[in-house]
Amino acid sequence: MGEKITKKDLEGIKVVNVVELLVDEQFPVVMQRFPHACRCKRCLADIKALALNNIKPHYAATENGNLYERINLMDVLVRVDVLRAMTEAATKVIENPRHD
Ligand SMILES: [Zn+2]
Repeated sequence: MGEKITKKDLEGIKVVNVVELLVDEQFPVVMQRFPHACRCKRCLADIKALALNNIKPHYAATENGNLYERINLMDVLVRVDVLRAMTEAATKVIENPRHD
């Protein structure tokens, strides 16, 4: 069945977790609900990682464009999940920041 795929064949192939794009997009909106939260890079990274661990990823190949179409689709499907996971993550990190 066809030729062996090598690492070289995979060079330049890009997939993106569209859920991560949504998280980035919603980040400012969610943080508005936590006006007193620490906004250092470490806390923001912890919130993002924690949120992403609690949302099923949805990867899309980016090479042939229509990524934005997919994002819009995903928007409807996962926006509520994303907001819930981010709010939970922000609450946890704010209560237990990994620094003093
Ligand atoms: Zn912080």
